Amino acid sequence: MNPAVWVERHGRRRPEDPALAEGERVHATWGAWAARTAGAGTGLREQFGLTPGDRVAIVMRNRPEYLEALFAIWHAGLVAVPVNARLHRDEFAYILEHSASSVVITDEDHAPDLESLLGTVASLRAVVVAPGERWTRLASSPTAPPVDMRPEDPAWLFYTSGTTGRPKGATLTARNLLMASLSYFADIDPVSPQDSILHAAPLSHGSGLYGLPHVARGAVSVVPASGGVDGDEIGALLRHWPGMSFFAAPTMVKRLVGDPAVVAAAASRLKTIIYGGAPMYLADLEDALTAFGPRLTQIYGQGESPMTITALSKADHADRNHPRWRDRLQSVGTPRTDVEVRVVDGEDHVLPVGEVGEVLVRGDVVMAGYWNDAKATADVLRGGWLHTGDVGSFDADGYLTLRDRSKDLIISGGMNIYPREVEEALMRHPGVRAAAVVGRPDPRWGESVIAFVEAMDGAAPPSVEELDQTCLEHIARYKRPKDYRFVGSLPTNNYGKILKRELRQQVRSEGEDPRPR
Ligand code: AMP
Repeated sequence: MNPAVWVERHGRRRPEDPALAEGERVHATWGAWAARTAGAGTGLREQFGLTPGDRVAIVMRNRPEYLEALFAIWHAGLVAVPVNARLHRDEFAYILEHSASSVVITDEDHAPDLESLLGTVASLRAVVVAPGERWTRLASSPTAPPVDMRPEDPAWLFYTSGTTGRPKGATLTARNLLMASLSYFADIDPVSPQDSILHAAPLSHGSGLYGLPHVARGAVSVVPASGGVDGDEIGALLRHWPGMSFFAAPTMVKRLVGDPAVVAAAASRLKTIIYGGAPMYLADLEDALTAFGPRLTQIYGQGESPMTITALSKADHADRNHPRWRDRLQSVGTPRTDVEVRVVDGEDHVLPVGEVGEVLVRGDVVMAGYWNDAKATADVLRGGWLHTGDVGSFDADGYLTLRDRSKDLIISGGMNIYPREVEEALMRHPGVRAAAVVGRPDPRWGESVIAFVEAMDGAAPPSVEELDQTCLEHIARYKRPKDYRFVGSLPTNNYGKILKRELRQQVRSEGEDPRPR
């Protein structure tokens, strides 16, 4: 089923009701959004000669046009490639090239970077700026009905960085998106047309995925006018729009707990905060429960199983008298309705309760594979199970607790950072012989990036400013190390492999770790 059908249906049934809002201002009613979706969808196909299955990327900060673009792409039977707008230009180039995107829809801020890629990225035919004159023209094209989409058709390429340092595109089909949406109703919350969803976190990630069940049920999608996470603004929006929920990384929840405007408004108006994507300190979670009451749901998921592996329900959060309440708060909850979850040993044999191993997932929400990467797909989906790379254990009641990640992933401020990408950037500096990057527990950001740097033999180590500059030239700003440690030689094992565990232990002792072990 084509998700654009949802917009079309609400457009017919409730044309005058608000559908998209920028802050308190209604940006489009369902009638207007449906007309724009159909116009822009048809326009994309006709003006750029695109056919179903072609890829169209979105590089945009959160704004109502983001959702207009997303649903227009689907209306046309095209595959959306929502790209993290905070990436570096070279990272945009890689994703556009790898997905062979024909068109990119962007905003004014990102237009210069993307326009500079026309001619460099072979597949790229056009850059459309929204809002803008070209977008308005597209959106007012003569309309046609949504293109037929089969359940197995790719709908969203979710690019996630891999251990190899190059991002991989998790291919999410129409079925995957539908299952993720239905399972939201099963395990997180029912949604009604009187509700609203606030997109305070990037639409290219969890917030966008959780936007879908809200569009499906005809709730209002609200994008903060600031595009960001301003406490006063969120407080005002909670008062303005009824039944509001939003997705937030744990670090964002922590920030909001400290904001009296949000806390006061939440007490009467907030429906649910869905948090996840990274571990949350127990103390922070207890503070959040005190501030917001039992309005928190935790989810554990990944791009490959779009935000749907386990959840810790509001009821579990509220059950303070349960003897294992705190243990449960430190878990990621129980498996979602539509998936099977296993913990296995190195040979994929199921482990008994209490034993720690890799978390595997199977179900209709699990991605079809990695875009154009048969080898990585075969590896991660071996035996028909998604190998998450996360390490955890089940307790006797069926709650899963994550203990570690078998991947090197660092999650800082809710953003994923793969050490290899940062190491490769650092290694471009001629004075660097070797670099190893690890995450240090950080009470504000969850983790922060720390780089251990070995200088070229006999040379003085490069300056922090030089290393920062090298990173800024090659990778997104938020991936840059927060701290550097210059070492004579990095610890290695017999095979010369850098002992990251030792480095992690060294930095871990400097801060508090949110993960139980
Ligand atoms: P992404 O694909 O960007 O959504 O990142 C997914 C990864 O984030 C997972 O494989 C986990 O390592 C981590 N993650 C997601 N949700 C949680 C959670 N609730 N608690 C701890 N880690 C999480």
